[in-house]
Amino acid sequence: MPDYEVIRSRRKTLCAEVREGRLVVRAPLRATNEEISAFVLKNREWIEKHMARAQARAEARSGVRKLTEEEIRALAQQALQVIPERAACYAARIGVRYGRITIRLQKTRWGSCSSKGNLNFNCLLMLAPPEALDSVVVHELCHLKELNHSARFYSEVLRVFPDYRKWQKWLKENGDLIMARAFP
Ligand SMILES: [Zn+2]
Repeated sequence: MPDYEVIRSRRKTLCAEVREGRLVVRAPLRATNEEISAFVLKNREWIEKHMARAQARAEARSGVRKLTEEEIRALAQQALQVIPERAACYAARIGVRYGRITIRLQKTRWGSCSSKGNLNFNCLLMLAPPEALDSVVVHELCHLKELNHSARFYSEVLRVFPDYRKWQKWLKENGDLIMARAFP
């Protein structure tokens, strides 16, 4: 079994996660070391699978070819063409109006929207499949209707873009590889 770090808190159940390639077990304050190691043993298959996946991802990340500044500028240009078109198309279907669209190079997010209705998108989205880009556009536009992540928000998202979850999952699984092309 791999080494693991235990983080105790006021939680009720044990849970394992792989963070930056390391195994972390979250445990209730009162859990004994025996209980924790039994839990790890019981979930061994899951843990090993996830550790292997994290390892593969880290290797892939270090192997990506970095984008040049010129390539990043070209992506931003492309994004300025493509994203406003996608936004206009979905905004009509959602029935919202938005303000300005800004394209940025960002390390941590794909898109955001301000309370004034301005939208912001990451130019690295141009390296993702068009459906993944659309899922981000729809997410931000739906915030102009619902400024939260409530059930109502998601039902609107899914109405307009039924494959939303599939493409968010894609971004979650592959997004860091795209980010790694611009950030170390
Ligand atoms: Zn959101």
